[in-house]
Amino acid sequence: MALERTLSIIKPDAVAKNLIGAIYNRFESAGLRIVGAKMMHLSKEQAEGFYAEHKERPFFGALVEFMTSGPIVVQVLEGEDAVRKNRDIMGATNPAEALAGTIRADYAETIDENAVHGSDATESAAREISYFFSDEEVCQRTR
Ligand code: ADP
Ligand code: MG
Repeated sequence: MALERTLSIIKPDAVAKNLIGAIYNRFESAGLRIVGAKMMHLSKEQAEGFYAEHKERPFFGALVEFMTSGPIVVQVLEGEDAVRKNRDIMGATNPAEALAGTIRADYAETIDENAVHGSDATESAAREISYFFSDEEVCQRTR
């Protein structure tokens, strides 16, 4: 298993519900380390750019509106098999289909406002991390 990095976002619904700490605890309990973090309020252009792969989908406008509706917390998670591990603890895109005990099952109600984002592959993780973080903003472990 390789040490990987993945891009995670706590979306506006979960920030509004005061769940930042609860969700960070899920990452750390799963053995993922937070090696970069920032709170931000996305512009329309930033949200459209981040989700460009979905621009032809019928929900794109609503997704951009939701993602710009309030502050988010963006983090780089590092660990063994981090991309898949983060997707596992997030649960399915639709919270109604997410396994019990996953972040989306516990903290989200609808497919459009589903608490968290996580990269879906190592290639998208690299692209998404560089979308939000410079190299200097991702920290190396020293101890
Ligand atoms: P995931 O976030 O699990 O990787 P996708 O990449 O397919 O899911 O979709 C990106 C985001 O777009 C989802 O997390 C969700 O917020 C929104 N979304 C996806 N499918 C739908 C849908 N059918 N209706 C409304 N919003 C959706
Ligand atoms: Mg996705």
